[in-house]
Amino acid sequence: MADDNKTSIFQLFRNLNISGIIKLAQKVDLGKLIAKVNKMSESDLKKMMKMLDGGSADREPPPVDGDFYDLSDKLSPEERAIQLKVREFMETEVDPIANEYWQKAEFPVHLIPKMGELDICGLTLEGYGCPNKSNVLQGFIAQEMARIDPSFSTFFGVQSGLAMGAIYECGSEEQKQKWLPSMQKMETIGAFGLTEPKVGSAVAGGLTTKARREGDTWILNGQKKWIGNATFSDITIIWAEDVDSADVKGFIVENDNPGFTAEKIEDKMALRTVQNALITLDDCKVKEADRLQHAESFKDTSRILRLTRASVAWQAVGCARGAYENALAYCNDRKQFGKTIGSFQLVQDLLVEMLTNLTAMQSMVYRLSELQDEGNLTDERASLAKVVCTLKTRDIVSKARELLGGNGILLRYNVARFVADSEAIYSYEGTKQINSLIVGRAITGKSAFV
Ligand SMILES: Cc1cc2nc3c(=O)[nH]c(=O)nc-3n(C[C@H](O)[C@H](O)[C@H](O)COP(=O)(O)OP(=O)(O)OC[C@H]3O[C@@H](n4cnc5c(N)ncnc54)[C@H](O)[C@@H]3O)c2cc1C
Repeated sequence: MADDNKTSIFQLFRNLNISGIIKLAQKVDLGKLIAKVNKMSESDLKKMMKMLDGGSADREPPPVDGDFYDLSDKLSPEERAIQLKVREFMETEVDPIANEYWQKAEFPVHLIPKMGELDICGLTLEGYGCPNKSNVLQGFIAQEMARIDPSFSTFFGVQSGLAMGAIYECGSEEQKQKWLPSMQKMETIGAFGLTEPKVGSAVAGGLTTKARREGDTWILNGQKKWIGNATFSDITIIWAEDVDSADVKGFIVENDNPGFTAEKIEDKMALRTVQNALITLDDCKVKEADRLQHAESFKDTSRILRLTRASVAWQAVGCARGAYENALAYCNDRKQFGKTIGSFQLVQDLLVEMLTNLTAMQSMVYRLSELQDEGNLTDERASLAKVVCTLKTRDIVSKARELLGGNGILLRYNVARFVADSEAIYSYEGTKQINSLIVGRAITGKSAFV
């Protein structure tokens, strides 16, 4: 018998007291047991010991990382440094307060100047103090933000994508010079008002907010619903129908305009940190100089939505990744039946299913942003990613919740918030049905919009 085996047998008996040995002898024939162990090969004996020790269950789990295919390696060293800078900001500044602000339904406005210092606002825009970086990097940043707090990435998406994007895409040179540099530094905050209480998916078919021109002044009347950031923003881009031409026009409205009021929507169950407003425009007077000079019809509004829809797909990926990473860490820590729950086959099956979808989504949005950088982003390509990623995210967050058992519904375990927030991401910037209709129209050549 090898010396190791002798030691194991010795230890076995040394650890048993007399009553233990009697108990064991009642269950097994000790003579036979010793004879069997004596005949075992060294490798069989090792296997048996490993089994008795619970296999590899006690091995340290590897670090949690939701970038399974190392897509971050595709970034240049400079881009990677920006990604990690954003990650550090989100982990040190936002993560510790995310649940508290979500619960209070308040936005941590004190973090806006620090966010401005990151120099990531208007990331892909050229000139006006903007960084002129790739859409791929922009996507990674949206993922980093949503991985910690989807409300934060939504706030940022409205500022950097919708509001700055509208001025950049549709504004005159003077309008860009006037607003973009301070928006880039986040000293001026913007909002984007398109949706109305009675017109959501059908915004392309006719807005009820009307704009009437009187000399050099436009008079706006109507309501806008769900407008993110608008309770504290400095300006809001308002989309309204010109009563004379029936064309959709965009206006830069300063929020202190006496004809403009923004009332906070209070009873949300998702993205509670985002401040969404019901805006009322009551004979709101706006100068012709503040009308977006290159917004001639709804087609121009759509151009902006196409760009931001790609970012929303990345946001969904970040939301899913946050839930997956928190669930995996929990599974590596939580014990039931004397073992970490992550060592159970059925739990691993769920984790792998989540990771499969997450990795597929990441690969998809990565390619989408590459297409955008190549100048080949189309409405249908953006819509397809928005549909798939928001749909799969709902599935991933619900599995994450399931893996946490009861704790899955407690905010402090950092999964419940992702579950709730995924619901809003699923609906905004075009619902599943509307984005599917956009893709369906492209692949069949037939519009099924009513
Ligand atoms: C948290 C949050 C933030 C938002 N932020 C902003 C913002 O900053 N600015 C802004 O302008 N808007 C914003 N929105 C509005 C958002 O874009 C709309 O909610 C969205 O476009 C859907 O419109 P709706 O809610 O009116 O739903 P509806 O249009 O009423 O749709 C209800 C249901 O009917 C379905 N449906 C509608 N038409 C069809 C059809 N033809 N065929 C099949 N199904 C159909 C929809 O898919 C959906 O399931 C935000 C919304 C939320 C929830």
